[in-house]
Amino acid sequence: MDRRTLLKHLAAIPLLSRVCPEALALNFDPASPGAVPKPLARVRPGDAGWPTPTKWDMLKQQAGGRLVPVYSPLANCQADFNSATCQELLKNIHNPYFIGDQPGLTQTLGWADAWTFAPSAYAVEAASAGDIAAAVNFARENHLRLVVKGGGHSYQGTSNAPDSLLIWTRHMNNVTVHDDFVPQGCAGKLAPQPAVTLGSGCIWMHAYQAVTTRAGRYVQGGGCTTVGVAGLIQGGGFGSFSKHYGMAAAGLLEAEVVTADGRIRIANPCTNPDLFWALKGGGGGSFAVASKLTLRVRELPQFFGAVHFDVKATSETAFRQLVRQFVTFYREELFNDHWGEQVHVTSDNTLELRLVYQGLDTEQAKQIWQPFLDWVARSPNDFSLDRPPIIVSFPAQSLWDVDFMQKHASGVFAADPRPGAKPTDVWWAGDGPQCGQVLYGYESLWLPASLLEGKSQDRLADALVAASRQWDVELHFNKGLAGAPADAIAAARDTAMNPAVLDAFALAIIAGGTHSAYPGVRGHEPDLAVARQRALAIDQSMSELRRVAPTRAAYVSESDFFEKGWQQSFWGANYPRLQAIKKKYDPEGLFFVHHGVGSEQWSDDGFTRVAQQ
Ligand SMILES: Cc1cc2nc3c(=O)[nH]c(=O)nc-3n(C[C@H](O)[C@H](O)[C@H](O)COP(=O)(O)OP(=O)(O)OC[C@H]3O[C@@H](n4cnc5c(N)ncnc54)[C@H](O)[C@@H]3O)c2cc1C
Repeated sequence: MDRRTLLKHLAAIPLLSRVCPEALALNFDPASPGAVPKPLARVRPGDAGWPTPTKWDMLKQQAGGRLVPVYSPLANCQADFNSATCQELLKNIHNPYFIGDQPGLTQTLGWADAWTFAPSAYAVEAASAGDIAAAVNFARENHLRLVVKGGGHSYQGTSNAPDSLLIWTRHMNNVTVHDDFVPQGCAGKLAPQPAVTLGSGCIWMHAYQAVTTRAGRYVQGGGCTTVGVAGLIQGGGFGSFSKHYGMAAAGLLEAEVVTADGRIRIANPCTNPDLFWALKGGGGGSFAVASKLTLRVRELPQFFGAVHFDVKATSETAFRQLVRQFVTFYREELFNDHWGEQVHVTSDNTLELRLVYQGLDTEQAKQIWQPFLDWVARSPNDFSLDRPPIIVSFPAQSLWDVDFMQKHASGVFAADPRPGAKPTDVWWAGDGPQCGQVLYGYESLWLPASLLEGKSQDRLADALVAASRQWDVELHFNKGLAGAPADAIAAARDTAMNPAVLDAFALAIIAGGTHSAYPGVRGHEPDLAVARQRALAIDQSMSELRRVAPTRAAYVSESDFFEKGWQQSFWGANYPRLQAIKKKYDPEGLFFVHHGVGSEQWSDDGFTRVAQQ
């Protein structure tokens, strides 16, 4: 394909789918076995034990003046929805960069019947590991509920808590690319390799622009450009090309963290290796507060590419044939490390193809798809395409190059419209509706690759169609590692993630919500009756998939707030090892998040200990 044709195709790509001073203490004294954990309850403002203003002032001094009271900008709307300040806020509430800049907001505003955003009492706007250590010590010594926020993209609400002290890492966003990185203490054990060190408040867009756009290399992070680095890595993390490069957490080479005792530690394969392993998928906000993370840097392929089209079936019977055909086609042609992202099986009998690929030019990709397109074309009474399929490759280095994309694929990115915003602060427009949303329901399930074999293909297709009668089903192929190269699978095996990810060809996600409701704002609250009805439909939809994949296994960062047996679902056989590491590094449970490792010992709000370790 010549450049002109390529650019024409690129311009036609609709939105890519939703796819971002201190001495190091390297030795560790484990907690004395049998020590009695305390305290039994944390304090709130107004409680006798709440720190005095003098104490807060001392923390402010220790944190270089970076202690601020936290207010929710939504309070302006709670006071008067028609006020100018509220209306100004609502103009920005779907801008992920605006939300990211507010200590008093999160990217998801709430989840009906699960959680509602609430601001912390105070935040340390950390600029260094020393600031983080000051906040950790203060919270521990004063029995405060502590919460950590980076990119603020937690669906489960784990980066906000009322009456808490927030460690907010937004401004710790330095990026340093290395040619020859050796983790501390690993000289002579690990060979030097290209790497990138990212401040823990960095978002993926800024990492990609430094590593890919400017340095011409690749770092495995997340698909959504505004997701935070620290939250994604600790959750395991997948990007569009994880079927080739593997899990993002598997690329972690070293972390600098502050543990519950306030010490700044290095975690890597040679120093604190147990903590290092737990940070790779054991869940954010549970083991330590990361101040910076160093990740492996890889070679770029020549091309990345995208496939985008919809096939609509004229009847449910035809749709079942279409889904069945796609399952076979996926097994034979796409079940390998070239292909990632999503296919949606929808309630209106449409198969939405929103895939990306790496390492193929346009002609190679088209050849792969031709047999499927021919099959569709042979039955015009049963199937129709919404438009000619878009199948196009482009130089891999251009994927996060805002100038290139705006010139050749305008509309793919949405830009931060605020005056003074950096022109490179953009997000995939397809991710936009998730920003400022309120969730009704969100469930995920890893689908084992055995479902792609023999007669199981029938069962899988039937289950997908049955599920889609209740709610649209998204298959995220890049979030399951079956079909990945052996080294990517081996690296993922050495993380804390549920090993079910290794045998899964895709993560099924079934989710829904609204982006026009504002929790706590009278007259604009989410409609609970609608929310409950939709949550039920989402659950019924997932039940159809559970019939063919009965072992509960879900991706912690993209999963149900109400996940049953969450320890097993998120971490499988790794859970007891994670519990032991939690006990060693955080024996008093300072770090608490909903459904995080060790959280069963605390009340739902994390304020009261309900069980001993
Ligand atoms: C629009 C959207 C798109 C997404 N796309 C993807 C995707 O493509 N791939 C994917 O794998 N996931 C994706 N996710 C899920 C995302 O990876 C997780 O929600 C992730 O945890 C977000 O990290 P964060 O820093 O942005 O969020 P936060 O809400 O700030 O943090 C998430 C968790 O990590 C903890 N945490 C944050 N910073 C630190 C730190 N420095 N030290 C210790 N704990 C910390 C928080 O306490 C919280 O528990 C997406 C989520 C959204 C909302």
